[in-house]
Amino acid sequence: MSTTFQITDVAAQARTGRLVTPHAEIETPVFMPVGTVGSVKGVPQDILEELGAQIILGNTYHLYLRPGVETVRQMGGLHRFMSWDRAILTDSGGFQVFSLSELRKLNEDGVTFRSHLDGSSHFFSPESAMEAQISLGADIIMAFDECTEYPADLARVRTSMEMTARWAARSKKYFEAHKSEVPWGEVSGFEFQVSGGPSTRSSTPDTRNLAAELRSAGQPRAAVPTKGAQRPKGLLLREHATQALFGIVQGGMDRELRRESAERTVEIGFPGYAIGGLSVGEPRALTREIVESTLEYLPKDKPRYLMGVGNPEEIVEYSGLGVDMMDCVQPTRAARHGLLFTSEGKISIKQARYAQDPEPLDPNCGCRVCQRYSRGYLRHLFASNEILAQVLNTIHNLSFYLDTMRRVRHSILLGEESRSLSGIWSQPNVRRPRIQA
Ligand SMILES: [Zn+2]
Repeated sequence: MSTTFQITDVAAQARTGRLVTPHAEIETPVFMPVGTVGSVKGVPQDILEELGAQIILGNTYHLYLRPGVETVRQMGGLHRFMSWDRAILTDSGGFQVFSLSELRKLNEDGVTFRSHLDGSSHFFSPESAMEAQISLGADIIMAFDECTEYPADLARVRTSMEMTARWAARSKKYFEAHKSEVPWGEVSGFEFQVSGGPSTRSSTPDTRNLAAELRSAGQPRAAVPTKGAQRPKGLLLREHATQALFGIVQGGMDRELRRESAERTVEIGFPGYAIGGLSVGEPRALTREIVESTLEYLPKDKPRYLMGVGNPEEIVEYSGLGVDMMDCVQPTRAARHGLLFTSEGKISIKQARYAQDPEPLDPNCGCRVCQRYSRGYLRHLFASNEILAQVLNTIHNLSFYLDTMRRVRHSILLGEESRSLSGIWSQPNVRRPRIQA
């Protein structure tokens, strides 16, 4: 048992669904905050829970270099290590190897690269990327792929796409042979519970599980609506649960190569499919064209994950096309630079015009930042280079993204077509009532 996916509502191409992983039940379409090194920068895990984050992303490349996958395995896996009992997805490390590391040498076996931290030499292959991700123990892990650069000529894109297809088959083969090695059961006191059934606990008491139970058993929560995101009672790590390995479609900006990549990846067979290699510098119209055409070749009954996208308008747009999962560093990275997404448009909080502004950042936002602090204070924190500025800005931006996805799911539930979905952003000055998802 790895994951199950069930479509719950459909509106034109858009759909809502329920993705059940070993650690969580996730309502889709979902936005996944990025926790690169096992931390969503600046935000403690209990606040991520309060914001209603259902699944977060960890980067294998970063965790492999520091603290090292063996350390994470010894600590019981990434969930245990970072004290996060909802779902996690790790990428394969491929994208970071190609974007961050130096002196890459690529061949059929894999890629040799130098660490961006200390210049040390390392090797990733489909097999070692699977081994690392099994040790980290995320709910969903990704096949090792080559993210083709942009622009690239057609012959280069084809060669790269074909290697990604061969690497996908090798990833699956290794994963199937080693998936039982996930570290979830290694720490004594780990709780197993069959969904809906009675809990059985091994002998060692575990205060962390107890704390998690207390949280899910109705501890006070903030004003942010988290109804849809709370872990349902009775859904804890299921017995004999394994990770789910998703395949990745490449093929650059060529629709025909994307079709071929999708068909070859589907033929190998995965419980979910990602569209990779986009948001790499191409024009947005082209991203949309490739997403739309690639989705046609992916199974409708499996989760479809668009990697590394996007801004608030884009996550709404792609949900409208039928994408189920997205991740992006934008809400967290922009927040650290003082750029804040609000229902009234984007705000650069560093501007002097906010110095004496007593209003909340976003009057339509129920997050703890907007409930408590003024724009004037946030501007002061940012201008003073206070750590709290980054923390508060990030909390708000994540709240805004997660609220946006709640609104999208609600709109799909109401049967609104993708044109209405995009209307969520077409009237930035109209104050909308918050929808309790
Ligand atoms: Zn807010």
